Amino acid sequence: MAATKYVYTFSEGKAEMKDLLGGKGANLAEMTNIGLPVPPGFTITTEACKEFYKAGRNFPAGLEQEVEEKVAWLEQTLGKKFGDPNGPLLVSVRSGAVISMPGMMDTVLNLGLNDQTVIGLAASSGNPRWAYDCYRRFIQMFGNVVLGIEHHRFEAVLEDQKYKAGVKYDNQLTAEDWQEVIKHYKTIVRKETGKDFPQDPMEQLYKAIYAVFNSWENDRAIVYRKIHKIPDDLGTAVNVQAMVFGNMGDDCGTGVAFTRNPSTGEKVLYGEFLTNAQGEDVVAGIRTPQPIAKLEEEMPEVYRQFAQTCALLEKHYKDMQDIEFTIERNKLWMLQTRNGKRTAQAAIRIAVEMVEEGLISKETAIKRVDPMQLNQLLHRRIDPNAKLEVIAKGLPASPGSACGAVVFDADLAEKLGEQGKKVILVGTETTPDDIHGMVASQGILTSRGGMTSHAAVVARGMGKPCVCGCESIKIDYENKQFLVGQLVVKEGDVISIDGSTGQVMLGEVPMIDPELSPEFQKLLTWADEIRTLGVRANADTPEDAAKAREFGAGGIGLTRTEHMFMAQDRLPIVQEMILASTLEEREAALAKLLPMQEGDFYGILKAMAGLPVCIRLLDPPLHEFLPNAEELAVEITRLKLTNSDQSEIKAKEELLRKVRSLSEFNPMLGHRGCRLGITWPEVYAMQARAIFQATARLVKEGYQVEPEVEIPLVIEVKELAYLRQVVERVAQEVKEATGVDFHYTVGTMIEVPRAALLADEIATQAEFFSFGTNDLTQTTLGFSRDDAEGKFMQPYLEKKILTENPFMVLDRKGVGKLMQWTVENARRVKPELIIGICGEHGGEPSSIEFCHLIGLDYVSCSPYRVPIARLAAAQAKVNND
Ligand code: PEP
Ligand code: MG
Repeated sequence: MAATKYVYTFSEGKAEMKDLLGGKGANLAEMTNIGLPVPPGFTITTEACKEFYKAGRNFPAGLEQEVEEKVAWLEQTLGKKFGDPNGPLLVSVRSGAVISMPGMMDTVLNLGLNDQTVIGLAASSGNPRWAYDCYRRFIQMFGNVVLGIEHHRFEAVLEDQKYKAGVKYDNQLTAEDWQEVIKHYKTIVRKETGKDFPQDPMEQLYKAIYAVFNSWENDRAIVYRKIHKIPDDLGTAVNVQAMVFGNMGDDCGTGVAFTRNPSTGEKVLYGEFLTNAQGEDVVAGIRTPQPIAKLEEEMPEVYRQFAQTCALLEKHYKDMQDIEFTIERNKLWMLQTRNGKRTAQAAIRIAVEMVEEGLISKETAIKRVDPMQLNQLLHRRIDPNAKLEVIAKGLPASPGSACGAVVFDADLAEKLGEQGKKVILVGTETTPDDIHGMVASQGILTSRGGMTSHAAVVARGMGKPCVCGCESIKIDYENKQFLVGQLVVKEGDVISIDGSTGQVMLGEVPMIDPELSPEFQKLLTWADEIRTLGVRANADTPEDAAKAREFGAGGIGLTRTEHMFMAQDRLPIVQEMILASTLEEREAALAKLLPMQEGDFYGILKAMAGLPVCIRLLDPPLHEFLPNAEELAVEITRLKLTNSDQSEIKAKEELLRKVRSLSEFNPMLGHRGCRLGITWPEVYAMQARAIFQATARLVKEGYQVEPEVEIPLVIEVKELAYLRQVVERVAQEVKEATGVDFHYTVGTMIEVPRAALLADEIATQAEFFSFGTNDLTQTTLGFSRDDAEGKFMQPYLEKKILTENPFMVLDRKGVGKLMQWTVENARRVKPELIIGICGEHGGEPSSIEFCHLIGLDYVSCSPYRVPIARLAAAQAKVNND
């Protein structure tokens, strides 16, 4: 059997080999093959990385030999040799995962330098300052990444040298200064590792490859994968590439550019560069770089070539590219291209404009936008009419507004975030080690770094508002505060940031509801043309119904009537109804509720005129409407101790007795849902009357209304048959009393396995079914949601017993099976039965896909998720048909 090939030169690869070569390797290969200027190199495969872990973090057999052959090839290609003092080959060693994980894994640059080759490099380049700068960078990076020496040990030496030399920036140091720094760096290495800095380039190379493989399992990479749901077993490739230098002088530079604005989507070349610098300087946010337009002024010819290359790459990949480049003595080199990360706003605009430019199809545009990312646009933002007191302004690095307490430390941000507190993480810059704090924050504010700094890239990826390079804030970590001129902002003080304008405000500022941009509307119109699954909204008020309609809902999938019972003016009447000891008393209370309910339904049906509105009759356990027994007991004791009015005490005691008698061991499995209707049909009759009286009024006023009366928590067809009769009788009465004929349907929720199993029988009494997957998940798994999420869900997920929280992502294997059974059996007896879903899953893309696959008629979700559901439903169609 032929040995596995672990190493590919760039010309041996191509874009399609991403799984094997990682994103970076595959794209370097692709760029090489389309004739772009790419420094030569080779990629060690993700397969080698997987084998490395299988072998207990050891290189697989044959890998070293292949690397040696490829190094020899590289030496020959470039006419340079590893370790040759007269013309040393220098390489970069970079990670390259299949799915990009910016900044999460390790990189080593300038590898191949040692005490000898640096002298040769200084002489051959005629630029000793540069040569020694490279060597110190190499020791610093290798020392940190490979030898595990903390970064700040090196930084302290550097700061010290700048201080001694009386300069502000690194690039002002001389060759002699760097030699001095190198001496100290080498002492640090000896002290920390007990060994001298390795001088043999092959040894350096193997150690660097080892470190990159190892970095797949570093803490920040693990956290990043968890957040972005990247599988842990993909492994990273390693790219070894000849160095080109952006730090040889002012005719050199390095930069990062996007072919379109990743924040807004505008079609302009967007990026930054630093003259006389190496790549990491840009990404690390050490010096704030110059906008790419400046390159046009400084090196017009290089800029022209660069702009052309960018256009070519975008056409080739048919997507917005994120490009890294280096200019070495006026010559352009391409170091990386990949599909650029972008905000939701940019994703939409780019997708829509690319369709209009004829670059991609509508279906591709639909696939390009992550539905969950749309959340960013469906959040509130700062009211443009608000008068803002702006205390500072930085770069608008990731749009959206956020408000929270200032926190300077990622661990603290995480701790407060877990307690449900809103925080803004503030720092000079962020590093990959801050990722957990960024996740827990509402937004990020940094005083340094540009639009492509770590903070900016990661925040955009997470959809968090971010303001970067806000240089007017001076952070004083020691005293946990930042200063803006005279103003002192302390940890815990509340600030607001606007990542779309870069503004920073003190305190909380007024926000407004989101609106859909014209491009967003257009994309959703295309989604509507494509999708076959309907999208409705869960809405309990006319305002929510109107919002849902504005967002494109095709009706209401669930109106929870209990929320109406909770209103301040209703609760006492509802309690009266519950506590009534005779039918007459209860009917008296219900008579008071009737006009109120009629008003509720009138508003909702009117807001949704022309579209179906599914109204669920009372569902929750009654204790939800009653005072808490313990609190009541305490109150009675207090009244007794203060010798209060005896009749008041008596009334409270009576109430307590009733509350106790209604208390249940497990209310969610207790007296709720249609069981209430069975014991007290007059309650459901009142609700049905309210629905039909509102319907009759609206029909009289000329509106077309389509009420669907929904009976919850059914387990047996006879329950439905009995309650259906109650509803039908009331409908008939209302029709007769008003003289108005109207149309309505009756159906049920499928929330309990028995209902699913007996779907064929239940279907005979229903015009529609709606899966209440919140309850269906609880009853199928036997998990109470609150207990599960509060106590044991996390370990289940961490131990990978469940891959997703089944209350968020539909459990296709279990709950899904019941749903599929329901659909098949119900439709067998009643093909025209309308079937939808109204549990939380109705707004979650993977669950929506499942609903499409099993042939539901619609999904229903909260109004703000309607656009997400429209897009997800279209994706389900495009991806599966
Ligand atoms: C459900 O159970 O999925 C449902 C929509 O009902 P509720 O969440 O109100 O129990
Ligand atoms: Mg339910």
